Amino acid sequence: MKALFSILFISMNSLLFSQEFSLPALPYSYASYEPYIDAQTMEIHHSKHHQAYVTNLNKALAGTKMATLSMNQLLMDASFRSDVVRNNAGGHYNHSLFWEILAPKDKQTSIVQEAFNEAIKAQYGSMDSLKKALTQAASTRFGSGWAWLIVTPDKKLMVTSTGNQDNPIMDISKDRGIPILGIDVWEHAYYLKYQNKRGEYLSGIFNLIDWGIVSDKYTKALIDPLLIEIEKDNWFALKDFHKVMGQTFHPSEEGNLIPLRTRSGELLAKAILLSSSKPPVSKDKPEVHKSLYNLTEQCEKIYELVAKNAKDEVLIKEITKAHDLFHQVQELCHD
Ligand code: MN
Repeated sequence: MKALFSILFISMNSLLFSQEFSLPALPYSYASYEPYIDAQTMEIHHSKHHQAYVTNLNKALAGTKMATLSMNQLLMDASFRSDVVRNNAGGHYNHSLFWEILAPKDKQTSIVQEAFNEAIKAQYGSMDSLKKALTQAASTRFGSGWAWLIVTPDKKLMVTSTGNQDNPIMDISKDRGIPILGIDVWEHAYYLKYQNKRGEYLSGIFNLIDWGIVSDKYTKALIDPLLIEIEKDNWFALKDFHKVMGQTFHPSEEGNLIPLRTRSGELLAKAILLSSSKPPVSKDKPEVHKSLYNLTEQCEKIYELVAKNAKDEVLIKEITKAHDLFHQVQELCHD
């Protein structure tokens, strides 16, 4: 009986604290995407391929610390994840977006926000040129992958592509931002109808892209906090400093000063690199530079104190100050 209760308790716990990803329903029937994508391809793509990414992702996360992470957190730190998590989290995210932005012609939202139109005109000249850039990115992607339209941290549009099931949220991507449109160029997306003719599939797919939905995604991406996270994540000197700060400050909170005593030189070196690095455009402000200057001074003070063999309580006080200063920088980076 006791065993039964603990099994129940464990499964309730995992229900409460971990999320299971699930296959989103397609908004339209498999046949509605004809003639551009045939019903059989849609069905296999959605119910078999996408389902497999979801199943394998849940399996890989079950019982691990990652089970409580959001999709964005899983993607952001892709370089630290196993291939299984990286591929299946990407697979689930990418396909979910793909189904959202596709609609049969007569069901498409015709309302495209003015700001989105303006951004396209300003950056690409016209919708036609944007489509050309997307087609180019999709047709030159070697092997399996995706072509993307993303919003970058400096709030511009960008066309890019990634291999396999990677995407621009991931820290392994060269061009990063929030995807608002993705085109699947895996052969499983088109082979039954188009065989090796990726170009024909691409000219067909533009008939199914619902630009009203893409435009809504553009508006939302501009104010999505994820955009700020990506920008900070792209500031490598900040990321680097943060790592050493975490590895020296957190043990000291628990009374272990050894990491700080052995690495105060490294901490200072990373602070100097950070304060002399170029922040991302929108963070390149006098108050950020001032805080970085103070942070470096504080790290220098700690370095000198360590050299003088200062007492633990002195070091704890000073590293706590450095940590507060760093958070000031991070918060400044949020606005
Ligand atoms: Mn696919």
